[in-house]
Amino acid sequence: ESRDHRTGFAIVGLGRLALGEILPAMGKSKYCKPTALVSGDRQKALKIAAQYGIKESSVYDYTTYDQLARNPDVQVIYIVLPNSMHADFTVRGARAGKHILCEKPMATTAKDCERMIAACEQAKVKLMIAYRSQYEPNDLALIKMIRAGKLGKLRQYIATNSQNQGDPTQWRQKKALAGGGCMPDVGVYCLNAARFLSDEEPYEVQATIVQPKDDPRFAEVEASCQVIAKFPSGFVATFNSSYNAHKSQFLRIEGVEAFAELNSAFAYHGIKLRYSKLIDGQEIMHEPSIEEKDQFAEEMDHMALCVQKNLKPHTPGEEGLQDQRITDAIYESARTGKAVKL
Ligand code: NDP
Repeated sequence: ESRDHRTGFAIVGLGRLALGEILPAMGKSKYCKPTALVSGDRQKALKIAAQYGIKESSVYDYTTYDQLARNPDVQVIYIVLPNSMHADFTVRGARAGKHILCEKPMATTAKDCERMIAACEQAKVKLMIAYRSQYEPNDLALIKMIRAGKLGKLRQYIATNSQNQGDPTQWRQKKALAGGGCMPDVGVYCLNAARFLSDEEPYEVQATIVQPKDDPRFAEVEASCQVIAKFPSGFVATFNSSYNAHKSQFLRIEGVEAFAELNSAFAYHGIKLRYSKLIDGQEIMHEPSIEEKDQFAEEMDHMALCVQKNLKPHTPGEEGLQDQRITDAIYESARTGKAVKL
C-alpha cells in the first residue's frame, strides 16, 4: 500500500500521554504508524489495539516485552512509562534490537542515563529523548531569530512551568518512580529551553526548593523549585516550576536589542511567539503568523526519518543526560544552600 514507507512504533505504557497525545498524533504523522502495544492492562491494550488496527499478536505486557525482538513490524520502541522505569525498558528494548524514543525526563539518575546511552551504542540502535519543544514551530522560529542575531547578545531568560497536582497517590508524587517533584517533570522544560535557545551550557546553578510539611502530596517530593543558572557568555536563566500553583507556562528571553516570549510556552497547543520591535521609533509587540503543527507528530517523524536515513537524532541520549546532570546540581544546591559548579 501507499503508506508502506512508515516506520513501525511500539508504544510502551498506555497512560494519559500515550492515549491522549501520542497515539492520536500517529494519525497526523507522515512517517510513523503504531504497530505494537505494551501494557500491564491487557483488556485496555486489546481495546486500543482494535481501535488503531494493531494485531492482537502484537500486544505485549512488561514480562513478554523482550519478545518484540521477534516482531518485524516494529522498528522503534516509544517508552512512555513512569520516569524510573525508562532505563530498564530502554536497555531491554536496545537488546531486542529496536531503536528507542524515550519520554522526558530521560531517567532519574545520571548513572541510568549513561547506562541507556551505552546499551544503545552497544546494540547499534538510535536513542532519542522526546523533547517535543525542540520540534515545535514557534520554538524553532525563536531559535532561528536568536541565531540570526535579531535579539542581539543574549542577557536574561525567565520561565515558569506550573501545574496543580491532584491525587497524592500517583507515581509523580513518589520519589522512587518520579526521581523528584515538579523539577524533573515540568521544570525540565524550562531548563532544556534555556539550553537550546542560548546554545550554551550552564557552568553554575543556584537553587531552592519548597516542600510544605502539611501537604500529603509533598511527603516525598518538592512542591516548587526556583533556579538561577549562569552561562559562560554572561547569559543568566532564571526559572521556576510548581506542582501546587494554577497551570501557568511562559518564557521570555531578553537580548541587548530586543526580547521575545512564548506564551504558553511548553503547552501542547496554542503557543504564540511575540517579540519586541522598533517601528518608527515606537516599540511594539510583533506576533508573526506561524502554522501550528502537532509537536508529537513532528517529534515522532524526526525519529522515523533518523531511522530511515540512518541519522543521529537532534535530541539524543546525551541531551537527556546533560539535563539530568544539571538537575542533580540543582538538588545539591537546594540541599546545601550553595551555588554548585557544573
Ligand atoms: P500515566 O501515569 O498517565 O501513565 C503511565 C503508564 O505507565 C500507566 O498508565 C501504565 O500503563 C504504565 N505503568 C507501568 N508501571 C507503572 C507503575 N508502577 N505506576 C504507574 N504506571 C505504570 O503517566 P503519563 O502518561 O502522564 O507519563 C508517562 C511518561 O511520559 C513520564 O515519563 C512523563 O514524564 C512523560 N510525559 C511527557 C509529556 C510530554 O509532554 N512530553 C507529558 C506527560 C508525561 P499500562 O496501564 O498500560 O500498564
